[in-house]
Amino acid sequence: TARKIEVERMDKRIEVPPAQDELSELALTFNHMLDRLERGFNQQQRFVSDASHELRTPVTVILGYSDLLARWGRSDAKILEEGITSIRSEAEDMQDLIEKLLFLARADQKRQILHKDFVHLDELVDDAVRKMKLVAKEHTVQIAVNEPGIIYADPATMRQMMRIFLENAVKYTPAGGHIAVSSRRLPEKGCMELTFADDGIGIAQEDKDKIFERFYRADSARTKKAGSIGGTGLGLSIASWIAEQHEIEIAVESELDKGTKFILTIPLAEDDESDTSDKEG
Ligand code: ATP
Ligand code: MG
Repeated sequence: TARKIEVERMDKRIEVPPAQDELSELALTFNHMLDRLERGFNQQQRFVSDASHELRTPVTVILGYSDLLARWGRSDAKILEEGITSIRSEAEDMQDLIEKLLFLARADQKRQILHKDFVHLDELVDDAVRKMKLVAKEHTVQIAVNEPGIIYADPATMRQMMRIFLENAVKYTPAGGHIAVSSRRLPEKGCMELTFADDGIGIAQEDKDKIFERFYRADSARTKKAGSIGGTGLGLSIASWIAEQHEIEIAVESELDKGTKFILTIPLAEDDESDTSDKEG
């Protein structure tokens, strides 16, 4: 049976002999290994098929506009303009998607290199919010609290992670909404608590666990209501990988039509003289 198992027929399992001996234990172990391999393999296949599916739409649109341009572009200035703008925008979306796919592929292959160092979290927060303010013209983006704290982290991916939460907060909050960022020091827990809160469309209870899955997007009708152009559903899977690499825990509190709050617990990298006595480990 073992010899017959291959990539195309991974659902086969070895029959476990009834006697509880080394042979049955070996069969069990082997079957468990196959379970894990099969799961990983199926995940990979789904990933490839989802990715291809996502790339199909922009390519179709680009081809459509190229045809339009070929036929009318030379004579009709309006079509020319519209065609160029649309092709550019679709190509940008594709580029964005490809960057995200490459990031996840590198992460899966453990080739995504992190350069960790001692960094001031408050500076990273300041920086990320300042940049988001420049682009989110229709929302109020503010820092509520930003207490000092040094963490051991890769600044580039930390920035990327903050941007993912901020972009989502803006994207899933209708124009005129508010986004508040707070970073608090919790020395008794040896960590910083960084929160991104918005008063946007919120996340349904049943979606809460799934939003970190690759390509998962909650109900698109509601998403459209917020006036967004949609996304790929990869942002939070990238964020959760980055969090994992930094031993950061992510929690979500959300209510439909009220808003969403992402709470990140980030380990502090300092020895706080005043409270080392009651710290564990
Ligand atoms: P992209 O890959 O471009 O970020 P995305 O925003 O759809 O696409 P994620 O960032 O992974 O993907 O988010 C997954 C889903 O979680 C979103 O589609 C949305 O339904 C939900 N979501 C995430 N953040 C919020 C938020 N702040 N408010 C409401 N829903 C949210
Ligand atoms: Mg997103």
